[in-house]
Amino acid sequence: MPGLEDLYREIILDHYRNPRNRGELDAPPAARVEGFNPLCGDEVVVYLLVGGDGRVADIRISGQGCSISQSSASMMSASVKGKTVDEARALIRAFKGMMSIHEQRLDGSEDDAADAAAQSEVKMGDLEALQGVVKFPVRIKCATLSWNTLAQALDEATAPNA
Ligand code: ZN
Repeated sequence: MPGLEDLYREIILDHYRNPRNRGELDAPPAARVEGFNPLCGDEVVVYLLVGGDGRVADIRISGQGCSISQSSASMMSASVKGKTVDEARALIRAFKGMMSIHEQRLDGSEDDAADAAAQSEVKMGDLEALQGVVKFPVRIKCATLSWNTLAQALDEATAPNA
């Protein structure tokens, strides 16, 4: 059994106690997407505003759930704010690649090679603190929830005639 200190690293606890970009945006114009992880009861709502320059102009997070889900959402919001939509999508692929070792067993849908390539090209920074979660397979859905929700929000925000 891996130590719990791998799961609850200081940076993760800091984002849980002091969540970044907490709140809501008017939707529309912002995209609003809800994510739910029934395995743990985690809920994340992502509000996403993409500017005319194709960058994430603003992002807010609301919802409730375990410390991993909420700190991952906070770290995700801080990571993608100001990034282009393409950069944000690359970060999603890289993050899911980092988590895919075990997630693959849960849903069998990950493209390992592509994810590994994406991961090698993207600077993960503080997000690497969440890597310890892969030792706790039941918690991976907690960590990836906000990223899957962000992916949907990016699709909505960039859809034609949205
Ligand atoms: Zn959870």
